[in-house]
Amino acid sequence: MAMSIDVEDWFHVQNLRAGISRDSWDDRERRVVANTDRMLEALDETGVRCTCFVLGWVADREPDLVRRIAEAGHEIASHGQGHDLVYDLGPDAFREDVRRAKRTLEDLSGRAVVGYRAPNFSITDWAIDILREEGHRWDSSSFPVVAHDRYGRLSGAPAGEDVYPIGDAFHEVCVSSLETLGTRIPWGGGGYFRLLPYAVFRRGVRSIVSKGRPFVFYIHPWEIDPGQPRVGGLSRSHAFRHYVNLGRCEGRWRRLLSEFPWTTIGDLLDRGVAAGQ
Ligand SMILES: [Zn+2]
Repeated sequence: MAMSIDVEDWFHVQNLRAGISRDSWDDRERRVVANTDRMLEALDETGVRCTCFVLGWVADREPDLVRRIAEAGHEIASHGQGHDLVYDLGPDAFREDVRRAKRTLEDLSGRAVVGYRAPNFSITDWAIDILREEGHRWDSSSFPVVAHDRYGRLSGAPAGEDVYPIGDAFHEVCVSSLETLGTRIPWGGGGYFRLLPYAVFRRGVRSIVSKGRPFVFYIHPWEIDPGQPRVGGLSRSHAFRHYVNLGRCEGRWRRLLSEFPWTTIGDLLDRGVAAGQ
């Protein structure tokens, strides 16, 4: 079971784009350090090591945060540089985006950065080749697919597989979903984790794990921050998804940390490869 944090600030979120222009990012109140530090405390208290997908934009402005995450023993992975959707960037700009973020994160952490997660899970086939060429070895931006499934944007993804190789020396590590009534519901975090009663969410996690499947969870520092500035001009569904149950999330996440045996995505992958998967 792998725990992951997408280290970005509240104003980077795609759902808020209608109310926040990119030009305004540098004028916004940065809350990512305080929120991430609280998460690091929770991880320390529960003895959990996780994978942190750090946004290059954050790393440029808060280098000490990246150093602290690495020094605490967590895996540093890349969330790209500017939080643009991959298919909006196109191949050349995407290459530049991931190259820049990787270089910064490696300089700060002193370690190779080989994992990547696309903003808003916006991965596409051509991006995988570029990630590999730029020195990444795995991606964790898609959901496992079943027939006629709307999740997962990589063609050729084997149905029902959560971790699978793509060509040579590259793996996709899907974010978890729960198979129910012939379809799959995203079950790796986000709105569902904050919306559903904790016991219901946990039951789903146990069901996935009991089938011998890997479980990959994601969370953002802004999800434990009920005091973040409220953004106007959003659609109802975007506002709901962003703000639902922020006040309960930290306690819930701490429970999740303490009740399951978590590791990093890199470790999960190493174990799977060692086991011949
Ligand atoms: Zn993100």
